Amino acid sequence: MEHVLEAEGLGKRYGARWALRDCALRLPTGRIAALVGPNGSGKTTLLHLAVGLLRPDAGAVRVFGETPYENTTALADIGFVAQNTPVYRDFTADELVRMGGKVNRRWDATLARTRLAQAGIPPHTPAGKLSGGQRAQVALALALAKRPRLLLLDEPVASLDPLARREFLQSLMGSVAESGTTVLLSSHILADLERSCDFLVVLQAGQVHLTGAVEDIVAAHQQLVGPRHHGEPIDGVATVVRARHTDRQSTLVVRTDGP
Ligand code: ADP
Repeated sequence: MEHVLEAEGLGKRYGARWALRDCALRLPTGRIAALVGPNGSGKTTLLHLAVGLLRPDAGAVRVFGETPYENTTALADIGFVAQNTPVYRDFTADELVRMGGKVNRRWDATLARTRLAQAGIPPHTPAGKLSGGQRAQVALALALAKRPRLLLLDEPVASLDPLARREFLQSLMGSVAESGTTVLLSSHILADLERSCDFLVVLQAGQVHLTGAVEDIVAAHQQLVGPRHHGEPIDGVATVVRARHTDRQSTLVVRTDGP
């Protein structure tokens, strides 16, 4: 399948107010995508639609060709790390891994334990006594134990300090490089994602402002403004802070307006 996630005319409103409007999006298989935008731009709403926690009020979102809010078969292949993931605080990481195996037949407890050991998480300490960064690592290990084909993460590093953020993203990238899992990772802090992601979705006020492979965005941008592009707005919302495009790699550092 070429595209893991596809949205067309996707809209969602809370009461009379549209949180997402007419969103079109195609996330190719195997990409590590950043979903970026200021607070309130609709990132959580989009992710919740993609995991079937919400039903759209317009259009559709398909994951592996299925609408997750109507057909739950796709959910088995989706890993989700929610914002402020409520890892059960009274249970240890080891207990959580064992509990997951009881409710999920595809559960890979060995993979989860390896990830936890690599991240230096004490297996027998209640999650409530771990640091925020360690709890995020537990949530990631539990999501990966499902062996998902698509991993969605909602602001997983927003509340972490810079070192914990870096460690989390490094272990995420290491995990998905081995498994080939497609990732959609939301953040309002773009600097976190600059070296990690190869696909970009920029949301602004509930609309997709910019989407595409980083190399394509960089190439198009370079055609427009030439090799000097610091501080150039690329769509009125995102601003290129730094862009580099070589035969082997493209990196794009952009910032979005807003908090
Ligand atoms: P983000 O994740 O980018 O911060 P959200 O998807 O959480 O954005 O929110 C998008 C918009 O929808 C915001 O204006 C937010 O206030 C509003 N919103 C989100 N959830 C609800 C809700 N349950 N009820 C009413 N409004 C909501």
